Amino acid sequence: METKNEILLHGVAASPGIVMGKAYLFTKHIPRIEEKQITAEDIPAEMERLLHAIVRSEKELQKILQLTEQKIGSAKAKIFEAQIMILSDAVLLTAIKKRIQKDLKNAEWIVNQEISKYQQMMLKSPDEYMRERAHDVEDVKNRIIRNIQQERLISRFDQQAVVISEILTPADTVLFSRNEVLAYATDMGGTTSHAALLSRSLKIPSVVGLKDVTKHVETGDTVIVDGYAGNIYVHPTRETIKRSNQRKREHRDLDLKLGEIRQLEAQTLDGKNIHLSGNIEFSEEIDYINKQGAHGIGLYRTEGLYLREESYPSEEEQFAEYKVIVQKAKPHKVVMRTLDIGGDKVVAHTHDEENPFLGWRGIRILLDKPDLFKTQLRAMLRASAFGNVWIMLPMISGVKEIRRSKEIIDEVKSDLRKENISFDEQIKIGVMIEVPSAAVIAADIAQEVDFMSIGTNDLIQYLIAVDRGNEIVSSLYQEFHPAVIKTIQHIIKAGHQHNISVSMCGEMAGDPVATLLLLGLGLDEFSVTPIILPEIKKIIRSVDFKETEEIARRVLEMKTENDIEEFLRVNLHAMVPELLLE
Ligand code: PEP
Ligand code: MG
Repeated sequence: METKNEILLHGVAASPGIVMGKAYLFTKHIPRIEEKQITAEDIPAEMERLLHAIVRSEKELQKILQLTEQKIGSAKAKIFEAQIMILSDAVLLTAIKKRIQKDLKNAEWIVNQEISKYQQMMLKSPDEYMRERAHDVEDVKNRIIRNIQQERLISRFDQQAVVISEILTPADTVLFSRNEVLAYATDMGGTTSHAALLSRSLKIPSVVGLKDVTKHVETGDTVIVDGYAGNIYVHPTRETIKRSNQRKREHRDLDLKLGEIRQLEAQTLDGKNIHLSGNIEFSEEIDYINKQGAHGIGLYRTEGLYLREESYPSEEEQFAEYKVIVQKAKPHKVVMRTLDIGGDKVVAHTHDEENPFLGWRGIRILLDKPDLFKTQLRAMLRASAFGNVWIMLPMISGVKEIRRSKEIIDEVKSDLRKENISFDEQIKIGVMIEVPSAAVIAADIAQEVDFMSIGTNDLIQYLIAVDRGNEIVSSLYQEFHPAVIKTIQHIIKAGHQHNISVSMCGEMAGDPVATLLLLGLGLDEFSVTPIILPEIKKIIRSVDFKETEEIARRVLEMKTENDIEEFLRVNLHAMVPELLLE
């Protein structure tokens, strides 16, 4: 028997879990679109084909929409509502009809040209989110063309399989989930792609961004997908299979053990209580986060609502979403961050900028557009009557922005009082510390606010001057850079001097290797991605605060990130040996 050599490919871990199975190579049906000349008499028949295809496409999408709603809730189903909206876009449809009449060309030829124009614009966007949305438009286009050509959709396969694809659209991901999909592995996509978000919600292991997995795999090949490490093994050797099974067992055992502590306090062995909360973006995540044992929400990114819609969401729409979250988190708090669009989070209304990360973003937009700011603040304040809401301002660079924001908040409060609308009069107002200037003057800022939360995702990139999305310099993006650690120490001290609590909601808070250090530096609250929460709790519950202080003291003397990371790994391994570090 011919044995093939094992191939190991490394991508981005998008949804956890380890599985082995037979591959199903899903190659997208790329419609063949021929240019055909038609005559004036053919026009009615061509229009008929077009309209029939649009009606059919809408029916298909409605079905997918329902399926998504049943499986993972209505917020995620919005992706398909957006696709249905493209289908019923009167301007687009009129343009297509007019061109069929004027150019006397077949419907699919014109559909392809007109929708591709849209798509090209989106693909040129510097923003990953917009580029991902271009794939949604592609999905709609191919659906219409397929229906014009009256082809049948192939989305079923006979047996359990690991789906390997260049890219998966959200529709593919949901449709496949009706079959027994063991895992997904794709060439393209980042952690923010909707397919990645959906696979996490569907709890199907997946690795994305593998670049050329489709070139190395054929249908029927045996593969192992490791959604923890972001690896995929094609034709795994016996040794790899054994190791993977072992890892799988270890993860399962660890999950079981962690399950036991989910509802316990995040308290160190010597009795220091830590506030351990979660980061969310959608209201559907709240049940999961409660189950994971979070004490409320330390960062609710509200951009999701804005990124999904064509226009800004109304006060009522926001209020409805916020109220659900606040009620479900009760009695715990929900830290709602006001809009942080701009930078990498571009929505339809933001501008093209040479240097978006140093441009019009977060609080800068809100202060320039007080109506936008006030609408959101009204919705947040109204939601505060139903639970425990804290308001957090993003991208603060100095005291002036805080004072101006508080004036606007006071104006909104006074409007609400006049209208007899209740809200929490004691509502806490805090800021993200994610711009180096704010970090330097943290003591001044601490005197203006009720709390501070360190946003390491931005703070690190601004402090070391390294764009975290740029692969050429990504090795310089170092959370253990001594300057990052000294800055964090400085912020925490400044907060404590002025008796306010200091939290961290950037990804560093959810990195187990950083936990001992952050504890030792005196961080009061960790707000982390829900999936990692029990692990962080386990570490906190396994150590003495006094010991972590000593660890932090030692780290502050070290000169390079490599020394620091190594030192922290060794200590973590010694203190919490059950953890499985990647
Ligand atoms: C951060 O910058 O660390 C942060 C939490 O905010 P975001 O990732 O949304 O920019
Ligand atoms: Mg940020």
